[in-house]
Amino acid sequence: MISSHRIALVTGANKGIGLEIARQLAQAGVVVILGARDAGRAKAALDDLLSQGLKAQAVPLDLDDHASIAAAAETIRAEHGRLDILVNNAGIVDAADGPPGTASLDAVRRIMETNFIGALAVTQAMLPLLRKAPAARIVNLSSSLGSLTLNGDPASPYYAARLIGYNASKAALNMLTVQLAEALRGTSIVINSVSPGYVKTDLTGQQGFMSAEEGARLPVAYALLGEGAVSGRFVEASGQTPW
Ligand code: NAP
Repeated sequence: MISSHRIALVTGANKGIGLEIARQLAQAGVVVILGARDAGRAKAALDDLLSQGLKAQAVPLDLDDHASIAAAAETIRAEHGRLDILVNNAGIVDAADGPPGTASLDAVRRIMETNFIGALAVTQAMLPLLRKAPAARIVNLSSSLGSLTLNGDPASPYYAARLIGYNASKAALNMLTVQLAEALRGTSIVINSVSPGYVKTDLTGQQGFMSAEEGARLPVAYALLGEGAVSGRFVEASGQTPW
């Protein structure tokens, strides 16, 4: 079935910022596909959105299981024939991450696998469907912690967060944004890295300055960018984040 509504896939959409991105996109009239690796948590999130009268569905999607990524792409192709919005939101931290001299290599590998390789794999799998949309948007959930500039700036509030795995994974994700934006220059597809701010979710141990609903607003704005939109940027609520 080819829908006249925009179709969005949000990865890691069963809770936190991802669920709120899904909710806000659906409130804007987008048909939202919740990507989630756990069937039970996916159903709870889907029921939450459906109970609000929103248009949503769920698809099994584990960024560490590339067969599940291929299967999700095939489901979207068969049901919708295209994808208008991809939000690469799923991400992890790891307690064994830390400064470069002592971080667990296994932890760094796990983080890179999900936050970078996983997002890259999802993007590659969805690209043929994004090319079929009239003006697709890709939003990568990055972090100011991924800024090389801020990691080297003692005056930055992020300077003290020495997480080699997490910060490197977001810097790598930013490279995906830059390279894909250049590869897609001249097409109608736009891709940006968005830093949501410091948001109270499970990832931060419910610490932060913003609710998940507030943290979803900027990623949603970039998912809904209109014609002539900028591409290849790294942005936060106050403006552009230095690379
Ligand atoms: P969260 O509440 O912990 O949610 C993370 C989501 O990612 C969950 O739905 C989780 O699913 C999913 N996920 C993790 N690994 C996955 C995998 N292998 N396959 C599929 N889904 C997976 O975290 P959040 O704060 O909302 O984070 C969302 C994004 O924002 C992340 O990319 C994070 O790095 C970024 N971010 C957050 C903040 C912040 O202050 N919170 C700041 C900057 C950037 P499960 O429930 O199955 O684990």
